[in-house]
Amino acid sequence: MNQEKLIEKSSQYLWLPFTQMKDYDADPLVIESGEGVYLRDIYGNEYLDGYSSLWLNVHGHRNEEINSAIKEQLDKIAHSTLLGASNIPSILLAEKLIELSPEKLKRVFYSDSGATSVEIAIKMAYQYWQNIGKPEKQKFITLKNAYHGDTVGAISVGQVDIFHRVYKSLMFHSLVAPFPDVYHHAELDDEDEIRDTALLELEAILEEHHHEIAGMTVESLIQGAGGMNIMPKGYFKGVEQLCKKYNVLLIVDEVATGFGRTGKMFAVEHEDVQPDIMTVAKGITGGYLPIAATLTTEEIYEAFYDDYTSLKTFFHGHSYTGNQLGCAAALANLEIYERENLIEQTQVKKAIIQNLLEPLKSHPHIGDIRQLGMICGIELVAYKESKKPFLWEDRVGYRTTLKMRELGMLTRPIGDTIVFMPPLAASGKELEKMVEIMSEAIEITTREYAEKTVL
Ligand code: PMP
Repeated sequence: MNQEKLIEKSSQYLWLPFTQMKDYDADPLVIESGEGVYLRDIYGNEYLDGYSSLWLNVHGHRNEEINSAIKEQLDKIAHSTLLGASNIPSILLAEKLIELSPEKLKRVFYSDSGATSVEIAIKMAYQYWQNIGKPEKQKFITLKNAYHGDTVGAISVGQVDIFHRVYKSLMFHSLVAPFPDVYHHAELDDEDEIRDTALLELEAILEEHHHEIAGMTVESLIQGAGGMNIMPKGYFKGVEQLCKKYNVLLIVDEVATGFGRTGKMFAVEHEDVQPDIMTVAKGITGGYLPIAATLTTEEIYEAFYDDYTSLKTFFHGHSYTGNQLGCAAALANLEIYERENLIEQTQVKKAIIQNLLEPLKSHPHIGDIRQLGMICGIELVAYKESKKPFLWEDRVGYRTTLKMRELGMLTRPIGDTIVFMPPLAASGKELEKMVEIMSEAIEITTREYAEKTVL
């Protein structure tokens, strides 16, 4: 089929996620193939994958080993249900996940996306308290600006106003504690003070409401879709201690941070945090197939283990839960981590990225560069001193990424924060090229729009 026809049909039939289709129709993009850190569109244009195809690609596209593992599994079986029956790759992957994850976690419950893994965590925590005779613990506490996915349960513990406000009356009510956001803090600029006041406010809420709180949901060490905001040192540990003190389950969302993204296998390791429930997705299959998992403790698992008639069973599951192809891809993916010492390599890449981004710090329209391992957010502002943003309607972040696309690199912004999240396997040279393109696009776009913004 010719390219124009495909573009026409994409506009005629598709409805893309998180996309204003008017934007897509103005600048359609149809990807045909990929190789390593490159994506290729139907016209043969190549783009560096600067967002790891939405924060999940690890070893690049068309990795031989992952492809072979999927093909091999395909020759045995593509899928059978996990409802009442297990399958070989799901058993082996569960063992591997428990081996890699924090000590306290002993059980794996599969699903197929980050949001479903969070949805499961919420229902699991809620039912846990019912099952052990504390039915009054029904609420959840979350952090301002949190993002945990788009299903109704996940948005109920989400706090990104622009995404969630329209669904308010659909959502269950969650308690909200402040996030210790260092760059955007209205009054304080000392990191320790910001951390301590945030912990005090969290404790005040827990003190008053702990008897009715089932769990606290927290993105691990960094808020992703809320703007790439990193917790100050010690805050995460403080959250863990408060949850323990007030008998609230700690639900850590590692969907975006897991599998080496932050320079550790899981971001909880940076502060030795031991969650009661942990959600993983994205990088689990190297970014090849939709597998997710909710990991939990033996104590929580046991609270569900009883005669069927006691109604303690966890009545939750999806048709594709524990899909064999996905689990086989995940096993192959994790084997490469081990063989190639990928976590150690990520530390090296992190330093390379840090050096490459250093010169951008002095740019007059870059307000802040936030980096945690191979997750980076580059926040564009109209005025550096006052941190005054560009006009919202100018969509400077979006326009910058369109310019990047013209220059041969893809990513998506969060407001005016440019997300830079390359595949973990990107080479030094590829990282260099990506930062070069990003810098040029930022320079061109911010110059154009700064003139329009009045101080
Ligand atoms: N939790 C976090 C922290 C995320 O970043 C995301 C997705 N970016 C999700 C949950 C939802 O994952 P999915 O898009 O796979 O549903």
